[in-house]
Amino acid sequence: MNAPATLVLLIEDDPPIRRFLRTTLTVQGYELVEATTAKEGLLQATSRNPDVVLVDLGLPDGDGIDVIKRIREWSQVPVIILSARGAENDKVNGLDAGADDYLTKPFSVGELMARMRVALRRRERRGSESAIVTVGTLSVDLTKRLVTVGEREVHLTPIEYKLLTTLMRNAGKVMTHEQLLKEAWGPSYGEEGHYLRIYIHQLRQKIEVDPARPRYLVTEVGVGYRLRDE
Ligand code: CA
Repeated sequence: MNAPATLVLLIEDDPPIRRFLRTTLTVQGYELVEATTAKEGLLQATSRNPDVVLVDLGLPDGDGIDVIKRIREWSQVPVIILSARGAENDKVNGLDAGADDYLTKPFSVGELMARMRVALRRRERRGSESAIVTVGTLSVDLTKRLVTVGEREVHLTPIEYKLLTTLMRNAGKVMTHEQLLKEAWGPSYGEEGHYLRIYIHQLRQKIEVDPARPRYLVTEVGVGYRLRDE
């Protein structure tokens, strides 16, 4: 018996983008529900219970960020923002509101598929909280606070450890500067981007084979960092 198709809710008012996504997602075997306004999107999110939501930020009757906030009041469904190029602020606000990721228009089919796979995988992983988190050759034993890269044990400072475990628990997801600062330093932080740059640099020296060309710790310019999960 075939597993039921993954249901995607697309909230987007731009007809060419809707057409592109409709064709792409259907070919890839996804089932699609479409909404063209914020109001309709929220209605579909509650009534259809989608597996993943793609949301445009500029909707005719409101802001996609408000849609994300509303969805997060009751659901942990993966949400991916569809945003215009150069709108870094919007992306950051959307991620801080609870979105998992974003795609910058125009995006390729490959990018879309990769982001959706990562978001769906993370949702599955959330169900099974394990004491050992593994991404590629990186591994953290949360009970022993033991970090290894391949066979090599790595010694991290408490802040580095906090940062790495936060990124690993959210592997594949972009974490904004503010989210990382609050997780690693505490709730009163959020503006100290320079702290982050220093610590990310140190972490790369410890966990990357080539820190200048990181395989894991990727910079998302103007937004934050992502631990690559492929
Ligand atoms: Ca729009």
